[in-house]
Amino acid sequence: MATSGTLSTFRLPPLPTIREIIKLFRLQAAKQLSQNFLLDLKLTDKIVRKAGNLTDAYVYEVGPGPGGITRSILNANVAELLVVEKDSRFIPGLQMLSDAAPGKLKIVHGDVLTFKIERAFPESLKRQWEDDPPNIHIIGNLPFNVSTPLIIKWLENVSCRDGPFVYGRTRMTLTFQKEVAERLTANTGSKQRSRLSVMAQYLCDVQHILTIPGQAFVPKPEVDVGVVRFTPLVRPRIEQPFKLVEKVVQNAFQFRRKYCYRGLGMLFPEIQRVESTGKLLELADVDPTLQPSQLSVSHFKSLCDVYRKMCDEDPHLFAYNFREELRKKKSKNQGKEDAKERERL
Ligand code: SAM
Repeated sequence: MATSGTLSTFRLPPLPTIREIIKLFRLQAAKQLSQNFLLDLKLTDKIVRKAGNLTDAYVYEVGPGPGGITRSILNANVAELLVVEKDSRFIPGLQMLSDAAPGKLKIVHGDVLTFKIERAFPESLKRQWEDDPPNIHIIGNLPFNVSTPLIIKWLENVSCRDGPFVYGRTRMTLTFQKEVAERLTANTGSKQRSRLSVMAQYLCDVQHILTIPGQAFVPKPEVDVGVVRFTPLVRPRIEQPFKLVEKVVQNAFQFRRKYCYRGLGMLFPEIQRVESTGKLLELADVDPTLQPSQLSVSHFKSLCDVYRKMCDEDPHLFAYNFREELRKKKSKNQGKEDAKERERL
């Protein structure tokens, strides 16, 4: 593999176009797998430029497909590029790129959701969390049904400083359905403000850096695409376990159009709901009549800190799930109805 510190500029030799590669290897997009390809290398160059300075960087590209973004990354003078692609049809085309960039491109036929990146790059790249980010970047244009669960998983990794973040504050540049990109970056009070906004923004600096019209893809998806860049924060804005923050945020957004006390109330068993919700909001100094979208990350910080104390005082509280209580109540009521019916017969 190439070592870092090289001064010469690398350019790929002339190659067949991505369109020709698709024809040559019969890479028709599998619609059911939401495969939409970027064929315009000016556009892929732009995405890669927006990811930051990649000189001598170690890059992890997820879902390279026919290799448009892959080419732009290789032309950005990186030290090494590791790609993980699930669909075996793309491997020969990627192999051709690897031959054109000797020692730079490492191909893994695998699934990004399970691939362990933590030992793939040299130990020497590791940085302290408080230092500048390591020279490692994650870049990817994945199907929308993969990118959202993946970012949730990676946000949890940021909070635990494991997975791709064993190297430090690894930066990520990923594509999402435009609407999801807007949710990820939505400010307090905006229409798009959601669970995803709070979960991303308490852990990362999140920037919607580019919008790509749907017609730039082949085949054209029904929606436009947003490119989002994430840089993990030195200090998360909420210092509580990821699962606890996720639970508070998820419950708060349960009833989007109602006052926030409605959703937050679902954190507590029905028998103590009114009293405990009042206590939570009072100690956190949060106005119960704010809507979920009006809650800032610092409101969530206070709510999570108080909820944590309440969980420490009541060891059963964190495991409480209002859906479970509802389900039990329903089946108990059903049991009573059935008994009455039997008596009548
Ligand atoms: N990056 C290419 C581009 O921009 O033209 C391809 C984009 S296409 C939307 C998504 C790619 O991700 C496909 O090549 C698909 O096979 C791959 N992919 C989908 N799910 C994956 C997974 N779980 N792990 C690795 N690759 C995946």
